[in-house]
Amino acid sequence: MFTDCKVRWANRLVLGILGEVAKSKDLKKGDVVKTFSKGKDAKVTAAFWDVLAEKAGTETFGVLFSGVSYCEGCNRFHLDELDPDRTKQLLGEYMKTLPK
Ligand SMILES: [Zn+2]
Repeated sequence: MFTDCKVRWANRLVLGILGEVAKSKDLKKGDVVKTFSKGKDAKVTAAFWDVLAEKAGTETFGVLFSGVSYCEGCNRFHLDELDPDRTKQLLGEYMKTLPK
């Protein structure tokens, strides 16, 4: 379950996307992050995948990633990657705009 714990970029990407979700819905980022980490709000979850698809220029769920989860072990978000090379290709530029 904690096999992805070394992958720090996934957490940066998820937080960046959630920041955009918060902005678009006029919500506080902290609230969106909390809601999303619990996975209890389908609208927030759907908005996350929508914004991510927008940034990647393609659908990502089931294409680049099979899922996202909040890891209690390291207090970070993890993404389950399906196509790491394509992810780098499609989201590499956006990743550069995110805080380290
Ligand atoms: Zn972890």
